[in-house]
Amino acid sequence: MFERQRRTKILATLGPATDPPGVLEDLFRAGVNVVRLNFSHGDPSGQAKRAADVRAAAQRVGVEVGILADLPGPKIRIERFAEGKVHLKAGDRFDLIASTDAGPGDATQVGVSYLGLPQDVTAGDVLLLDDGLMQLQVVEVQGERIINTVLNDGPLSDRKGLNKQGGGLSLGALTERDKELIGIVAKIGVDFIAVSFCRNAQDMNDAREIAESHGCYAALVSKIERTEAIENLEEIVDASDVVMVARGDLGVEIGDAELPGLQKKIIKASLAQNKVVITATQMLQSMVESPIPTRAEVLDVANSVIDGTDAVMLSAETAAGAYPVKAVEAMARICLGAERQFQTETDFGASPRNLERADQAIAMATMFLSQHVGVRAIVAMTESGGTARYLSRFRASAPVFAVTRHDGARRQMALMRDVFPINFDSRGFTPREAARGSIRLLVEAGMLQAGDRVVFTSGEHMETHGATNTLRLLEVGEDGRASGLGDL
Ligand code: ATP
Ligand code: MG
Ligand code: MG
Repeated sequence: MFERQRRTKILATLGPATDPPGVLEDLFRAGVNVVRLNFSHGDPSGQAKRAADVRAAAQRVGVEVGILADLPGPKIRIERFAEGKVHLKAGDRFDLIASTDAGPGDATQVGVSYLGLPQDVTAGDVLLLDDGLMQLQVVEVQGERIINTVLNDGPLSDRKGLNKQGGGLSLGALTERDKELIGIVAKIGVDFIAVSFCRNAQDMNDAREIAESHGCYAALVSKIERTEAIENLEEIVDASDVVMVARGDLGVEIGDAELPGLQKKIIKASLAQNKVVITATQMLQSMVESPIPTRAEVLDVANSVIDGTDAVMLSAETAAGAYPVKAVEAMARICLGAERQFQTETDFGASPRNLERADQAIAMATMFLSQHVGVRAIVAMTESGGTARYLSRFRASAPVFAVTRHDGARRQMALMRDVFPINFDSRGFTPREAARGSIRLLVEAGMLQAGDRVVFTSGEHMETHGATNTLRLLEVGEDGRASGLGDL
């Protein structure tokens, strides 16, 4: 009767390719749940305009779309080219000039704003640009000029990242620029802030402190993309709300052969601590230029879904690609297919027994019921989205309708797998009235119908954080009213 809805969420990076009128609406209709604004590219005012456009377009389409601001971090980047882009050939000479006035680049050279670069490299080093898509080998360092041989044919465009094979060039996380940008994105009112190249819990705590000093309570995303972050994974996950498997720089720093194992490890560590996790970079890379993904890309996206990721991300495919909407459509189709074929049942024998909080216990009991009684949906009243997060960690077969009047909470929940945020104001209602009201809303929206069984969770007292401690088993009647379920 109901079409199965996609449960894995889609993040899409915005850029020049998504700016033409109507593209945002098309992206949202195709299934984008959260957009990413990368503050390494474009100026902050341009990104602020995109954020405003997103809010307006989401409202027009009638969907909840979160906004993620990605901080640049200490990543070293090349500067710009006169033509925006050049094509390099293997064997050619290509120089990097560590100077603030290198001028626009061409096919023979380009500037790098990190002035210490000549001291950090020596002849023989391999430099990886654009997440490793372009490789250079250092021949000689002459003052501020680094002379290289190009190792592979390919394009190189403005502001691509640069690293040394094996890592070692990236500096401390949370640069002065990042700190300044946190203030700017706080004003924009983003829902998520991503910390690039974070090293430990302290980096995350510092970012949170600065955000809160600006009155910003965005969810904090740690980008796992350097060796130190892998060594400190547990504490970073603990200090984050969301974790990103940032495969581009991670592959450059640690070597691409380590990526499959690390992706699974990071997803597992995030779910074990009840955190939301994103899998990112080059997921449908060929779609930057082609309307159809490769088979290998299809398998990669599907395997991430099977690994248990909450969300999959598009980078250049949407920001600068020729087929941004088609890339999102492909992503949605592949996620849905993977979910249909690989549904998991929670093994309650293996679930944690040392629960610390009532809302965790209720979440677990809810999942047990949803699996054993056969319910159409879980309806959870939530203030901050915490209950929805616990519920979504179980990867239940029933969808979780997470009900809150808070716009920010709904947009953060848009990233959680299995969770569908619903706008409903329960102020002044008893739990019974709130159950009736929210379920009626879902019936009117066509998401529930007569005869459906529902597990409903809420606090005893509405409007308090972390207070979920009641659970009801309800059935939708012919009149669309929910009432208590007796016989199973
Ligand atoms: P990161 O390590 O933060 O992911 P990146 O350079 O890989 O940095 P992405 O956000 O992954 O950047 O986007 C991929 C590419 O899309 C960029 O390298 C850039 O060419 C293009 N792009 C992204 N955002 C913008 C933008 N706002 N303006 C122009 N180009 C953009
Ligand atoms: Mg990166
Ligand atoms: Mg990237």
